[in-house]
Amino acid sequence: MEKISIFDIFKIGVGPSSSHTMGPWKAVQQCLDEFSKIHEISGINSIHVHLYGSLAKTGPGHGTNKAIMLGIMGFNPATIDCEKIEDYVNGIKTLQRIIVLEKHEINFNPRENIIFRTREQLPFHSNALKVFIGFGNNEIYEDTFYSIGGGFIVKGPAHDDLDSHPLPFPIDNADDLLNWCKKNSCTISDIVMKNELEWHPENEIGHRLNSIIDTMKKSVFKGCHANGILPGGLDVKRRASYQNEKLISSSNYKSIDEWISLIKSDDHSFKETLNWVSCFALAVNEENASFGRVVTAPTNGAAGVIPAVMLFYLCFCENAKEEDLHKFLLVAGELGSIFKKGATISAAMGGCQAEIGVSSAMAAAALTDVQGGTPEEVLMAAEIAMEHHLGLTCDPIGGLVQVPCIERNAMGAMKAITASQIALASDPVHARVSLDDVIKTMWHTAGDMNSKYKETSEGGLAINIPVSVPDC
Ligand code: SF4
Repeated sequence: MEKISIFDIFKIGVGPSSSHTMGPWKAVQQCLDEFSKIHEISGINSIHVHLYGSLAKTGPGHGTNKAIMLGIMGFNPATIDCEKIEDYVNGIKTLQRIIVLEKHEINFNPRENIIFRTREQLPFHSNALKVFIGFGNNEIYEDTFYSIGGGFIVKGPAHDDLDSHPLPFPIDNADDLLNWCKKNSCTISDIVMKNELEWHPENEIGHRLNSIIDTMKKSVFKGCHANGILPGGLDVKRRASYQNEKLISSSNYKSIDEWISLIKSDDHSFKETLNWVSCFALAVNEENASFGRVVTAPTNGAAGVIPAVMLFYLCFCENAKEEDLHKFLLVAGELGSIFKKGATISAAMGGCQAEIGVSSAMAAAALTDVQGGTPEEVLMAAEIAMEHHLGLTCDPIGGLVQVPCIERNAMGAMKAITASQIALASDPVHARVSLDDVIKTMWHTAGDMNSKYKETSEGGLAINIPVSVPDC
């Protein structure tokens, strides 16, 4: 049984893509890390990275080349100063030199050392990369990695779960989760918390949850106050700050908390509430598209759905409590892991239903839980949200995580809120489709989906709206 902590689902990092940015970043670092256990970093004389499948086809638009360079340099995606990323990358392009793990300088021409093998695919997963480290006297250290979605990487098909530590409440699917809740007369977040306590002490869990909440709020706030055109050549104008200006009643705030209090204290029409939810989601994904800091939820492309629904709860739901956000994330994270176990959270495997669909289901469940829903209602909300994303294709124009991705986060958030409301107003006993049924259906649909619609930019909007491929 695969074991996934909610902190594997929510990872603080850099946009625009968890599978195409965070995954390759981690892969080159893991490769260098393993190399350094046997050989000296100072003995390295070359590094080549070959990208295959979806990573090759949409890598330039997704910033894969930049992520690889930053990974080789040894930067941590959770702490790098996002404002300096372009300077670091331009420095390497100009000097054609790179400093490996901040220690050892070698020649590196991104156009020659990062190879996009767009016509080739490795068998295990569409997102594959091979790293070749030249060292010593013409020796080569080589490794292959697969970026399987949400920033998760594996080294090959034989991916054994090395964590043999038993969990008090093993969960493979939604049915398991519901049974544990019933047997122990407790909520979903109680069960998830007890499992997490097997891995981390309570104070560390609290600290990490706060840090995720903080990063999500900051990405919304930053996106709501940034203007200009998104990078990549598609000329997409940022809209969240324009919407924020139109919606906010005063500019008299200095911090995120003051801004949230102001939104909360204003009276809002239904239309304005809808506009705020869109604004929150657009803000995060505009940040994501500009290599800003976001949290995978469960991926970078879908990073705006959960923060938007979280802020909807805080700003617009009666009796909303900041302290309930821990429960919100525990529930959302567990739902993300159930989708990963039963289907996929990788667009290269399942199209956009695996990103926006899963994030919408996670958010619907979390919102239902903090609004007092029973475990049955929570799972029903997730089922409804996914049911209406089944078959959603991934066809990003120019391989950039911008169109349709940014608006799609707003749509995912809206569906999550609606799904939660329907579940809270229904009797789950009469539900005809269970969450496990819909996860199974999602996986079958992913299998039937043409590869054109799985993050290759070879179908859909991507071929009907021409755009020049961004510079590598
Ligand atoms: S279309 Fe959906 S799955 Fe594809 S890159 Fe955009 S957000 Fe991700």
